[in-house]
Amino acid sequence: VERTLSIIKPDAVAKNAIGEIYARFEKNGLRIVAAKMMQLSQAQAEGFYAEHKERPFFNDLVGFMTSGPVMVQALEGENAIATNRELMGATDPQKADAGTIRADFAQSVEANAVHGSDSSESAAREVAFFFEDGEIC
Ligand code: ATP
Ligand code: MG
Repeated sequence: VERTLSIIKPDAVAKNAIGEIYARFEKNGLRIVAAKMMQLSQAQAEGFYAEHKERPFFNDLVGFMTSGPVMVQALEGENAIATNRELMGATDPQKADAGTIRADFAQSVEANAVHGSDSSESAAREVAFFFEDGEIC
């Protein structure tokens, strides 16, 4: 089995969509093995998105991710990384397939409802960024 890191972003938390998004994970074979709701600090958001530091949207992205509470979870299952990316849909909700989380809950490229690790390397880094080994069930 594989693990991936998922974040329900401030826009989707504000829309009261945590439960609907969790139901999609669970119906598609992804187990929630760790979870915490938190308000990211600027330093946490910058550290989490360090790979995007040079991108023009970096400051806006950090501002958005610190604008309200997020729900952070580690998901476990067969091909969890790819399964979660499929459930999320494309980064731009206008390009996301019908029935994906972003098609249903996102409003823009920035406020796009969810994050999901995009490789086994980023999944390992991102799960460890938020959870100690002892917090994962
Ligand atoms: P995520 O990493 O959040 O799962 P992603 O892998 O689909 O999404 P990335 O290219 O890694 O997309 O970008 C990370 C995040 O940065 C996006 O989810 C989005 O919130 C934001 N972002 C990406 N491109 C833009 C852009 N052109 N303008 C504003 N925000 C952007
Ligand atoms: Mg990404």
